[in-house]
Amino acid sequence: MTTLAYIALGSNVGNREQNLLRAVGEVGKLPHSRVTAISGFYDTEPVGGVIQESFLNAVLQLETALSPHDLHRELQRIEVEIFQRVKDVLWGPRSMDLDLLLYGDLILGEETLTVPHPRLHLRRFVLAPLDEIAPEFIHPLLGSSVRSLLCALPLAERVTRI
Ligand code: ADP
Ligand code: MG
Repeated sequence: MTTLAYIALGSNVGNREQNLLRAVGEVGKLPHSRVTAISGFYDTEPVGGVIQESFLNAVLQLETALSPHDLHRELQRIEVEIFQRVKDVLWGPRSMDLDLLLYGDLILGEETLTVPHPRLHLRRFVLAPLDEIAPEFIHPLLGSSVRSLLCALPLAERVTRI
């Protein structure tokens, strides 16, 4: 039994493009999993009020037999072990942020793991790349497609496909 999961990647420290490519490779190495689609890379304006460098963001589709919790644990391990991520400023600079956006039509409301990702429908830097690879995917809580969520966003933060 496999599930299609969508993972957001973001980096604004170091060589951002190299970081994203490395993260795609690491996620692709996870057991019982394979990367089945990758969006383009987007140069994006930081949101959340912290003054910092712009991010490079992308989204990938993973066909996986890992449970959502095992997958999330692996993503956190990659952030820490491969990218030496340390817990510091909330929404601050990071060499790699890996967020589990969607896991099939699963709905989960735990503090350490909320799926769909609670801010997915508000962020152009997530919806724009997700729309490239899953425009028809229906958000299991909101009942709207990725395409319509993207179209409903106010024109705010800048995202530029590189
Ligand atoms: P953010 O990604 O919002 O910038 P962090 O990467 O520091 O912030 O994550 C903060 C916390 O969010 C983590 O401790 C993690 O357990 C929790 N979290 C809850 N739901 C998710 C999810 N779907 N994907 C990734 N992290 C999540
Ligand atoms: Mg995160």
